[in-house]
Amino acid sequence: MALLEINQISKTYATGEVALRGVDISLNGEEVVAVLGLSGSGKSTLLRCINRLVEPDSGTVILDGVNITKLNKSALRKARRNMGMVFQEFNLVDRLTVLENVLSGTLGSSGTLRSIFRAFKTEDIKRGMALCARVGIIDHIRKRADQLSGGQRQRVGIARALMQRPKILLVDEPTSSLDPKIGAEVMDLMSSISKEDRIPMLVSVHDVQLATKYSDRIVGLQNGLKIFDDRTATVDSESLGRIYDMES
Ligand code: ADP
Ligand code: MG
Repeated sequence: MALLEINQISKTYATGEVALRGVDISLNGEEVVAVLGLSGSGKSTLLRCINRLVEPDSGTVILDGVNITKLNKSALRKARRNMGMVFQEFNLVDRLTVLENVLSGTLGSSGTLRSIFRAFKTEDIKRGMALCARVGIIDHIRKRADQLSGGQRQRVGIARALMQRPKILLVDEPTSSLDPKIGAEVMDLMSSISKEDRIPMLVSVHDVQLATKYSDRIVGLQNGLKIFDDRTATVDSESLGRIYDMES
């Protein structure tokens, strides 16, 4: 069985918007899979259905043999530690320092009291600092998160996701709040880490160039339907045209 099995996931929002129509994706280890699609095609909903930030209406998500869709609240909280999430808008806590934001990636496992008193374990602090060094923000760890640039803030988000030792990285348009050069650096960093640490990554992008440069496989979404799923090396412009209904 694949590390992640998404079977027939469907979601219609309360507003009547149909976001996903029976999507299947299976993801094996050591793979960077780009989810490509126009705005509104269902990329964010798909990523959020995996960790149930959005509850799918039907279908199953199985991560490393665990049926995520069936878990009760406390079991879900535990299972989410296996999924490192990186967001488009970074989702940092602005008033906390960079290091505190990174360390918050361990809070799921260290309990509420620790988080109230910000009493992190020494081993976690060491690990958090090593991760900050790895993603290139070690010089900024004592600054408030809101003092950093967009690219640096996304690096904090990446370190925080890695802090929880995830089995998989779920990344939603990590570069769309960044200018293209910085965005490419962030994609490069994430795909290298995914390879080096053998953590597969499902990353949504709407930029064709970024998807083809940094992924092993591309899944195309259109209107909540998967219309494409193939190795990036074999992707041609005609297939991408179908995903995008190319304007050019
Ligand atoms: P993408 O990330 O590819 O832009 P989304 O998953 O955000 O796509 O959206 C898919 C569809 O679901 C769109 O039609 C969007 O308007 C709708 N949608 C997304 N989030 C919500 C929500 N919270 N409430 C209602 N409709 C939503
Ligand atoms: Mg989105």
